[in-house]
Amino acid sequence: MQPFCKACGQPIWGRCLNALNANWHPEHFVCAGCGRPIDAASFQMHQGAPYHIQCHTNLIAPRCAYCARPMTNTFLVDYWGTHFCPEHQREYPPCTYCGRLIPPQQLEQPPAEAIRCPVCRSTAIETAQDARPFFNNVKQWISSQGLVYNNLPLSLQICGKTRLAEMLQDRGPTHAHGATVSSTTYDHNGRAVYNEIKGVAVLRGLPATLFQGVTVHELGHVWLIIHNIQGQPQWAEEGFCELLSYRLYQALNTPESQYHIQSIEQNLDPIYGEGFRRIRHRAEQLGWPHFLEAVRTTRRLLL
Ligand SMILES: [Zn+2]
Ligand SMILES: [Zn+2]
Ligand SMILES: [Zn+2]
Ligand SMILES: [Zn+2]
Ligand SMILES: [Zn+2]
Repeated sequence: MQPFCKACGQPIWGRCLNALNANWHPEHFVCAGCGRPIDAASFQMHQGAPYHIQCHTNLIAPRCAYCARPMTNTFLVDYWGTHFCPEHQREYPPCTYCGRLIPPQQLEQPPAEAIRCPVCRSTAIETAQDARPFFNNVKQWISSQGLVYNNLPLSLQICGKTRLAEMLQDRGPTHAHGATVSSTTYDHNGRAVYNEIKGVAVLRGLPATLFQGVTVHELGHVWLIIHNIQGQPQWAEEGFCELLSYRLYQALNTPESQYHIQSIEQNLDPIYGEGFRRIRHRAEQLGWPHFLEAVRTTRRLLL
């Protein structure tokens, strides 16, 4: 029986091309990209239509987000779904706050204290004025969690790295984004007898979501101080404060907050990561309101 061309429906008298379980006039088996016949044994399908290999590469293959070259072989995908050529992993520095790679043309000029991508820069908290709505939001949220501050007027300072390092003194580099602002009075034995809490300090230039997480963490320390829950193991105190950030990120429920949730969950640090997981476990066993009430009444994080 005479074969018929799938494209034009006419009988094929001369050369007949077999492809995709059908017969075609060779000139009628065409590329969906350029419309020219595909006269080769190899072609690439996309959404049910055939393409020249080259047309597929040029038109369909995903392109690198950084250099726009088509990615036909291997490529990497970051947390945010950005596809890129593997070599950029070595070439470009990652953003301090979100891990996105930053190609040279997107680097901040002049350089800030941290390497920041344009996305993180776009929501950066640079001044007390930028911070105000977010700080109010955080204070509101933390009181909704049952943490009360006895009407203490909590202040917020936005400060640079050097100033923050001075405030942190011996608390180490893992606490690089925020600090509590307080002054401690000591008795003649060198024991702390009185803590005057002024509020929290947060590093200048954090993206808004991280700013809120850091602020909540520091407000956790403040809450422990004013309720006289002192002398707890460091992992327990930091774990408690990390749990507060974690719960805020859950409440915000944005792609950015999901990113920070994942970094807290996967943090391998024995103090921050392990402390968080142990405290979260305790809080889950009791339920949050009971856990918090037990901490407040026993003045201990280890229940
Ligand atoms: Zn035909
Ligand atoms: Zn083509
Ligand atoms: Zn590339
Ligand atoms: Zn970033
Ligand atoms: Zn802390």
